[in-house]
Amino acid sequence: MDLLFRQDAYLKSCDATVVSVDEKGIRLDRTVFYPMGGGQPGDVGRLVLADGSALEIVDAVKGASHEDVVHVPKPGSTAPAPGDRVTAEIDWDRRHRLMRMHTCLHLLSAVIKGDVTGGQVSDGKGRLDFNLPDQTPDKEFVTREINRLIQEDHLVGSRWISDAELAAQPELVRTMSVKPPMGSGKVRLLNIEGVDLQPCGGTHVARTGEIGPIEITKIENKGKMNRRVNIAFVGAAQ
Ligand SMILES: [Zn+2]
Repeated sequence: MDLLFRQDAYLKSCDATVVSVDEKGIRLDRTVFYPMGGGQPGDVGRLVLADGSALEIVDAVKGASHEDVVHVPKPGSTAPAPGDRVTAEIDWDRRHRLMRMHTCLHLLSAVIKGDVTGGQVSDGKGRLDFNLPDQTPDKEFVTREINRLIQEDHLVGSRWISDAELAAQPELVRTMSVKPPMGSGKVRLLNIEGVDLQPCGGTHVARTGEIGPIEITKIENKGKMNRRVNIAFVGAAQ
């Protein structure tokens, strides 16, 4: 399966052929749908069939491997057949908000120095958990620093390195709970120029300025070492 979002996160649709259909969902030969993973939700959208009818896709999940995307249709809908030509379209407005927040969490992990133990990207908000035994970060300071990095409009890009190169640079792996997908021989590195470099398979905006203003809404103590830092777009529903 050709995962087009890895090369270009801004693709909103693509033509594809149905490869298989089972109780889990629909597989295509190529797709723009990002499957849930790495703390980022799966895309929703629709498949438009040759006769013009549309099949609603309510989720996208990983199948047997990182390269396998299963498009989950709305329950009760009639599935297409293998060989059918479709146009796969994501709900772009939602995806773009997820891309902005996902990229913003990279900035958060650059501002707060500590092991990241978990995280979640949601629509309009997100959070990261940090292992910070002896301190709670200052909400106003973190808000100010992230908004500064957003305003500086840093370039965001990706490149691939080999498993061996990554193994030689363990300091690149900040998120201990989500190990990068090694084993396929190469790992995708996400680079925010001058700010952050780490393995990540998610979707990101092209420049930090695209994120827009954010605020740290809450910093919670979740256990002795764990600090949960919640972030939201300014003006987003809390
Ligand atoms: Zn990422």
